[in-house]
Amino acid sequence: MTTQGDSSILVTKDDPAVNTLRETARGILSKVFGYGEFRGEQEEVITHVAQGGDAFVLMPTGGGKSLCYQIPTLMRNGIGVVISPLIALMQDQVAALTELGLKAEMLNSAISATEQRDIISRLHRGDVDILYVAPERLVLEPTLELFSQITIALFAIDEAHCVSQWGHDFRQEYLSLSILHQRFPDIPRIALTATADEPTRKEIIERLQLKDARLFSAGFDRPNIRYRIIIKENPKKQLLTFLNDEHQGDSGIVYCLSRKKTEEVARWLKEAGRDALPYHAGLSAGVRQKNQSRFLREDGVIIVATIAFGMGIDKPDVRFVAHLDLPKSIEAYYQETGRAGRDGLPADAWMTYGMADVVLQRSLIDSSYADDLHKRLEHRKLNALLGLCETTSCRRQVLLSYFGDEILSPCGNCDTCLNPAETWDGTLAAKKAIYIANQTGQRFGAVHLVDIMLGKMTERVTKFGHDKLSAFGRGKELSEREWSSVFRQLVAMGYLSVDMERYGSIKLTPESMSVMQGGVNISLRKDHLGSGKKAASKRKKSGKPTDQRTENVFESLRARRAELAKEAGVPPYVIFHDTTLIAMAEHMPSTIEEMSKISGVGEHKLAKYGAIFLEVLGKTINSDKQEDIPEQQVN
Ligand code: ADP
Ligand code: ZN
Repeated sequence: MTTQGDSSILVTKDDPAVNTLRETARGILSKVFGYGEFRGEQEEVITHVAQGGDAFVLMPTGGGKSLCYQIPTLMRNGIGVVISPLIALMQDQVAALTELGLKAEMLNSAISATEQRDIISRLHRGDVDILYVAPERLVLEPTLELFSQITIALFAIDEAHCVSQWGHDFRQEYLSLSILHQRFPDIPRIALTATADEPTRKEIIERLQLKDARLFSAGFDRPNIRYRIIIKENPKKQLLTFLNDEHQGDSGIVYCLSRKKTEEVARWLKEAGRDALPYHAGLSAGVRQKNQSRFLREDGVIIVATIAFGMGIDKPDVRFVAHLDLPKSIEAYYQETGRAGRDGLPADAWMTYGMADVVLQRSLIDSSYADDLHKRLEHRKLNALLGLCETTSCRRQVLLSYFGDEILSPCGNCDTCLNPAETWDGTLAAKKAIYIANQTGQRFGAVHLVDIMLGKMTERVTKFGHDKLSAFGRGKELSEREWSSVFRQLVAMGYLSVDMERYGSIKLTPESMSVMQGGVNISLRKDHLGSGKKAASKRKKSGKPTDQRTENVFESLRARRAELAKEAGVPPYVIFHDTTLIAMAEHMPSTIEEMSKISGVGEHKLAKYGAIFLEVLGKTINSDKQEDIPEQQVN
């Protein structure tokens, strides 16, 4: 480690008492970060990289990727260089490391020339532990020259999937990062991503020349996220009920497809009393920056956003991610919902979905400029997502098996597990639906076909003489809502399709015939309406403490943290995470020694904040006592 001068971190790798890498790593974990145990494969990755090996680390969001390069950096000689795609992300990481007592700096376009000169001379003196660099800066010759003059502990390539040209986070400059291997063959490289799909992994290995790197792949499950997908009825109202019932005062993200809709929904939530802000690529950089920073720095802010929002959002306490529109693939759904619950506390992934979503997504694919092969691929990806939406089995099992990551039994923490979907034999209904679509020339949308089934004399029915059809009014055993559900599910299952060139008319598919010929039995699910609250009822609210006393103490700690964060101009979680505050409220440490045992309280934070938070805890005990006296009627 490069601690020189007055750094307060006491770990030195030359310490004779620390004789194995593992022990050194554990020592740093506990002293610097205040954590007792490594998670998953962290320890393996760390010891591998500390010895100079290259690594490719696939870990879900919240899995703890940062420690995988931060700790080996501290174990090796020299400065750790981290390539990170977003300035906001770098700023937060630097702030968090500084709070831990480390010397962290960054080089990007937000740094003034004077500051830069200062950082560079400190780099030459070895007076920096970790340096964050934007990729476009890294590949400039002066930077590479600088790096050849200083001792570098390792290169970490964060958000490595930005190198993938197929992904929506593609960054041109990432393509040049293979230069690291060429110019600095002896310095270990560690690439990290939460992207789960196989083609992207291959692309990363190829483009970053990581063929010899050891692959560390954690499972992709996010057990603390509860998945829930409900049928769209009145989406804004469904959303509000969900927020009111389960997420009072929590922060979260609401995803919408269009820019206009994000603004409309944000305004609407605001009127309903929630602190909601829009975010999309059409807003000025200033507004985006302001909204994002409020979301990161204040408690309880909701961001209503398009997919432009999210990459590099490191906020650990996002308690829900809600989708008002269908994403385009399981990858996108997994990545977006993955922004919830990084801190490991319970979080919700909630989505409303309906036939209109299918129609819209299909038309987006068909009208794109992609070639036919690519369009077919996109349709297949959408189909897989529809399968997830319509499944009657455990959502987590469906989701994970898509990524080739099987779990043996149902998870018990998704809507279909908690509130098993009822199914019914829809074979006859399917036949009727296919028949009517065919009989009307495959030229009409689901709404009109349902009207015919129900025998409604609408203007359109009269205009096309559809009241004369033998099928007219022959579907009265089901309600309008049930028929739309039948059409939606048949489309999702591929027994019918939507023709986008003809304004969303329902068409037959090769599979339709097998239904008509009686070759298949079709099991359909009964739609659950409402906010899906029943699924949530078995759980305590959000990640907050359950009993009133702990909750009150937690709130006092949180209030103090908010003040400190504001004074320091950093997000609150940079000071302490909610998990750490909850641990304090539960264990009620009363001495510095006891405080040091709380997970997340490392040496530097103990020195800086220990006494301040002990004081808050002390006050809550005193106020408890005062309340106790009259009740006990002592004397
Ligand atoms: P990722 O980058 O993989 O999404 P982070 O590195 O941000 O995840 O880690 C997620 C959270 O988990 C962070 O708040 C981090 O401090 C915490 N964390 C990581 N490793 C551990 C550990 N071994 N013990 C306790 N908390 C940890
Ligand atoms: Zn489940």
